[in-house]
Amino acid sequence: MAASPSTAGIDLRTRLSICAKKARYANEADALSAVAKATITLRHYACDRCGQFHLTSRTKSKRIPRPVTP
Ligand SMILES: [Zn+2]
Repeated sequence: MAASPSTAGIDLRTRLSICAKKARYANEADALSAVAKATITLRHYACDRCGQFHLTSRTKSKRIPRPVTP
């Protein structure tokens, strides 16, 4: 019986190709340091393919919540 997890599939393959292309950071501290140096907004995330960290410029929301200044 071939169990196919419904949540993986295409997303997993996409991540694999992204993983191959992207720079990898061995740990979160390295990733954060790269984020700090970047001139654009980046997010780091743990990759479930290689177990390391990548950066992405994609953010789920276009607006970054900023504190309201009175
Ligand atoms: Zn990866």
